[in-house]
Amino acid sequence: MGLTGLEIYKHLPKKNCKECGQPTCLAFAMQIAAGKAGLDACPYVSDEAKELLESASAPPVALIKVGKGEKVLEIGHETVLFRHDKRFEHPCGLAILVEDTLSEGEIKERVEKINKLVFDRVGQMHSVNLVALKGSSQDAATFAKAVATAREVTDLPFILIGTPEQLAAALETEGANNPLLYAATADNYEQMVELAKKYNVPLTVSAKGLDALAELVQKITALGYKNLILDPQPENISEGLFYQTQIRRLAIKKLFRPFGYPTIAFALDENPYQAVMEASVYIAKYAGIIVLNTVEPADILPLITLRLNIYTDPQKPIAVEPKVYEILNPGPDAPVFITTNFSLTYFCVAGDVEGARIPAYILPVDTDGTSVLTAWAAGKFTPEKIAQFLKESGIAEKVNHRKAILPGGVAVLSGKLQELSGWEILVGPRESSGINSFIKQRWNV
Ligand code: SF4
Repeated sequence: MGLTGLEIYKHLPKKNCKECGQPTCLAFAMQIAAGKAGLDACPYVSDEAKELLESASAPPVALIKVGKGEKVLEIGHETVLFRHDKRFEHPCGLAILVEDTLSEGEIKERVEKINKLVFDRVGQMHSVNLVALKGSSQDAATFAKAVATAREVTDLPFILIGTPEQLAAALETEGANNPLLYAATADNYEQMVELAKKYNVPLTVSAKGLDALAELVQKITALGYKNLILDPQPENISEGLFYQTQIRRLAIKKLFRPFGYPTIAFALDENPYQAVMEASVYIAKYAGIIVLNTVEPADILPLITLRLNIYTDPQKPIAVEPKVYEILNPGPDAPVFITTNFSLTYFCVAGDVEGARIPAYILPVDTDGTSVLTAWAAGKFTPEKIAQFLKESGIAEKVNHRKAILPGGVAVLSGKLQELSGWEILVGPRESSGINSFIKQRWNV
């Protein structure tokens, strides 16, 4: 947790000069505590107070970026242990392992398969985020060549796993792309920090167990490097779960700074079911990056779905754009279905319409992403709003009839809607699963 307004106030100059745009120093302190103002707005804060306040008011888990450009992965900045307390800020990244002992052709083939691990879930595209290149050859030139080969066929960010010599060789070409280095250990950390500093790239800190990890992080931050990701090296999944939970708990509840960084976890079991199960545990609790060794869509899709579920903001329902959706190339005679723009509602309707092979138009009214009954109860799915949407959506130019089908659960809206819109309103089934038989029995233009 950050500092309270009163704690911040104690370190302010107390001149009440208003130069920060606030009427008093106390008001300014409250704005900082609420995250609405930055310390730099006050020209009179002493260097000592600045240092103290900046580190104390920093978020409990640092934001770390891997890669650059459109595919950059941002992890960290988490402030809660449980999603329902607020939300999780940055979805964890999924990485797929590629070893440098593969031939050039095999590397390209595997990376191209990784590129294709992109899935459409409730109207959003979700994908694997990183390629983890591992220097199993132990040879610097072989590793650098493998990294360059992989870069020819992907723009995904890289994790470079190897000896300091291998990483130094690979960074000559890959350094500008902000890869994550794996890993600084008790034996090589000075060399690794030097490398990470030279290219200004994130660095994994790897040590067995929490005590050793905290000690190593402190040595590295004392060298002036804080662009870090943590690896507590668990022996098995139960130890992994314990370490991940303790790191997040200590960072958030105790503001223990050595653990105020995102983490990395490995789910590399040879049995793909075990690996997927372990990765699911790490998605739920609390890995920032999970490294896997599979390019099978069937292994990755459930993990991406789980990640989507866990990282969805519980205060913001997933919504589709309110517009006319055309299913199966509908003609001017096709039925028009009215629904709401809650993604799950829309995709249930679209799935049942498509499954029944009915070319149709679907009009999801903007209800702030809420379902039919919730939107109706909240006054967001009203005859006025639906009539307006029928008018503005352009559907009248696409069909040669004036009939629209309203969800059965809100039949009560049909009379007023008919009056306001001038369209004949048919009361459809209560559940979208009834659409097929409804159309067969009731739809004829
Ligand atoms: S500028 Fe600084 S000293 Fe002046 S009112 Fe704001 S916080 Fe206080």
